Amino acid sequence: KSAVHRICSGQVIFDLSSAVKELVENSLDAGATTVEVNLKAYGEEWFKVADNGSGISPSNFQALALKHHTSKISDFSDLNSVVTFGFRGEALSSLCALGKLTVETRTKDESVGTHLEFEHSGVVISNRKIARQVGTTVTIEKLFSTLPVRGKEFSRNIRKEYGKVISLLNAYALIAKGVRLLCTNTVGKNSKMVVLKTQGSSSLKDNIITVFGLNTFKCLEPFNVTILEGCQVEGFLSKPGPGSGRNSGDRQFFYVNGRPVDMPKVTKLVNELYKSSNSKQYPVAVLNFCIPTTSYDVNVAPDKRKIFFSSEQTILLSLREAIENLYNPQQC
Ligand code: ADP
Ligand code: MG
Repeated sequence: KSAVHRICSGQVIFDLSSAVKELVENSLDAGATTVEVNLKAYGEEWFKVADNGSGISPSNFQALALKHHTSKISDFSDLNSVVTFGFRGEALSSLCALGKLTVETRTKDESVGTHLEFEHSGVVISNRKIARQVGTTVTIEKLFSTLPVRGKEFSRNIRKEYGKVISLLNAYALIAKGVRLLCTNTVGKNSKMVVLKTQGSSSLKDNIITVFGLNTFKCLEPFNVTILEGCQVEGFLSKPGPGSGRNSGDRQFFYVNGRPVDMPKVTKLVNELYKSSNSKQYPVAVLNFCIPTTSYDVNVAPDKRKIFFSSEQTILLSLREAIENLYNPQQC
């Protein structure tokens, strides 16, 4: 049974960035305004996410890392209007099955914090009082060590996995308003290296300046269009014309209602339209699709990054028109 649990867990948490993503989303769900991610040896030894959110109340400790434990859905009808990032109670139980899970937490109703250690099965094996601020710190040591083959592959690809984590944190740094994000990496006996640090500004514009720099921002055009009734796309795209883009598609971030997602078709469309006005480069794109939660389904892929729109063709057509308008206005 535990082998099956480990294998299933490897499908929810399939790499380092999906692990970090679940922890960061838990912090954001908990209303955190500061989120700090620390990695040891690019995440190969351990990684932790610390926040100043609501904390976890003692009544949740025992079940915290058990499968399908969640405090976020009280009623099945909630599933139709999920606003929090996580809602299936799978992340902590999966992480726990794949590495060594430690949680430190304190709510505002308690005067001291608690340090919890878990067995791979999700059972609490240590519970003691500690001094700490309100909020939660989740640490995972030796991710994938319980899946030997995957563990080896993980170590071999660690730099690539780390790169994906940084890109993911950039995605949150761009979209999260009023949240300070810090990421550090420590290698060997060296001191902590700060890889990302944001001020928690309150606008997308300021976040873009923090993450990409002012020079990149100056090459962007605001993009705000209603592509269907009730469906707004807002954000920034590279201005048309030479020199405004990049030599690779490394600065393209897409979101649905503020949640980072992969959108291969939208990515392809944006690249194609930009290239028709600017031969070789890739545009910078930060686009948030604000659509009613009934028009898409995030529950399909385990990592919740793949989005399925119910009227995808119409959305793509209407987006194409709006971008063509920006890049080739003479055609209209
Ligand atoms: P889900 O997010 O789908 O509910 P998780 O396995 O990610 O499931 O987390 C399980 C539960 O643990 C959450 O419902 C929440 O109650 C609690 N939790 C996890 N991380 C945090 C955090 N950083 N702050 C507060 N509560 C947390
Ligand atoms: Mg979660």
